Amino acid sequence: MLGLMQDVPLLVSSLIKHADRHHGDVEIVSRRVEGDIHRTTYRELHARARRLANALEALGVGMSDRVATLAWNGYRHMELYYGVAGKGAVVHTINPRLPAEQIAWITQHADDMLLFFDLTFLPIVEAIAAQCPTVKGWVAMTDAAHMPTAAAIPNLLCYEDLLAAQSERYEWPTFDERLASSMCYTSGTTGNPKGALYSHRSTLLHTFAVALPDALSFGARDAILPVVPMFHVNAWGIPYAAAMVGAKLVFPGPALDGKSLHALIEQEKVTVSAGVPTVWQGLLAHMEQNALRFSTMRRTIVGGAALPPAMLRTFEEKYGVTAIHAWGMTELSPVGTVCAPRPKHDDGAAEEQLRVKAKQGRAVFGVDMKIVDAAGKDLPWDGVAFGDLLVRGPWVVSGYFRGEGGDPLVTDAAGLAWFPTGDVATIDADGYMQITDRSKDVIKSGGEWISSIDIENVALSHPAVAMSACIGVAHPKWDERPLLVVVRKAGTSVTREEILRHYEGRVAKWQIPDDVAFVDAIPMGATGKMLKNRLREQFRDHRLPTA
Ligand code: ADP
Repeated sequence: MLGLMQDVPLLVSSLIKHADRHHGDVEIVSRRVEGDIHRTTYRELHARARRLANALEALGVGMSDRVATLAWNGYRHMELYYGVAGKGAVVHTINPRLPAEQIAWITQHADDMLLFFDLTFLPIVEAIAAQCPTVKGWVAMTDAAHMPTAAAIPNLLCYEDLLAAQSERYEWPTFDERLASSMCYTSGTTGNPKGALYSHRSTLLHTFAVALPDALSFGARDAILPVVPMFHVNAWGIPYAAAMVGAKLVFPGPALDGKSLHALIEQEKVTVSAGVPTVWQGLLAHMEQNALRFSTMRRTIVGGAALPPAMLRTFEEKYGVTAIHAWGMTELSPVGTVCAPRPKHDDGAAEEQLRVKAKQGRAVFGVDMKIVDAAGKDLPWDGVAFGDLLVRGPWVVSGYFRGEGGDPLVTDAAGLAWFPTGDVATIDADGYMQITDRSKDVIKSGGEWISSIDIENVALSHPAVAMSACIGVAHPKWDERPLLVVVRKAGTSVTREEILRHYEGRVAKWQIPDDVAFVDAIPMGATGKMLKNRLREQFRDHRLPTA
């Protein structure tokens, strides 16, 4: 017997309709590439998204056609999120930090029909336009006054002119909630990038889940600053979740340095922000140097890479900001786990609370997870056994766009299909998952595994260490041994011996790195994570003193 409830499809357009009706006057503030601060509201943004939908219609964009973006976090990008998906097309956010050839390759693989870009990315567009035959129009996200004049781009259009030429009258169509709404390619550190294709249904379910109190906990009293880019897995779903709950949005545009972020946080009374640890490193360094405080920010969500306990401590103890550790990936829309302490942790010692908060957290409802050994057998949830982390759920990929890479799922003994994350993890009895490492980053020393994350975290707790990366280097006896690569904090002169001494008593003796190499900078990838394969390449011939 079927239930007698209305079969209303879960569509992205319903979020912006709701936002307009129920909190239409709430502000969306953006730092623009033009340099100024722009203010709009959900009501105005909804009207402009409808104009955009009409413009897309006029340009021949049909159901499921792909419309690409190369853009910072800002209101125009958000209009594209709603205008494109709302009309049934697919908004394909491209990471502008990828090499130009890869961007061109992605637009062709995705069969992008139009490409919208912020002026910052004009040089990329000029470099790739000739290699992108599927793209029929290039839209500069600016007004007529700022349009590039001498650009060698065929069919260059002006965003504001397109909108101005259209009416606000547009009815969002109703269609199957399983249709694609957005897409995002993985960063392709190995092989070609693969496209994750999100549906309206998966996006809405993910939005409900991330907004919950023990997840990202968003509400109408919040002013959210997503530093995490809208080209990186839909900015962790924030442009959707904020619209659902009526939170103010503050978009940083291209200015992601500590000084600009701090100024925006203070000026716009931001209550919560979200981003990868490297961004917070810049912000915290700026605040320390200038003896600054936060007056309104209460929480920050840290994910994309492990939140170092030293950073957690700084946020909480020095600035009174709760740091919330989250884990996810492109293939998971992206949120999988969030670390919220339970009442039983309240009475624990501060050190114990810190230990829990440093974990990647518990699965949000909708995501099922488990860890398995090399033979695919389930491992216990005891916080000790570690194995490959598998996930399943309605916002986890079932395959990649165009079947790239074959079937990514594995089937367990019960016949359930799981997505292997490529991460190695433990899960404790309370369900808190902790990433040991990416399987390709773990250091295999004489049959024992060393977590590069653990080794980096110890280095980061040394006051003179700004950044650290631990990689495995070939060793004649142990196969691999850890090499610690360190960037010193400005004005410090810490030595190899001092750093190695810092490990004593903090990790098992055999896990202490064999050597320390000092560098000026660690190579960073397009999503703000350390490029360890580049480092492994760089230090391939490094001779360890123990070798
Ligand atoms: P890529 O980094 O390849 O672009 P994603 O952004 O999807 O792809 O990254 C997902 C990966 O990032 C995860 O599989 C995991 O290895 C790592 N990651 C994400 N969040 C965390 C976290 N909180 N702690 C440790 N690793 C994390």
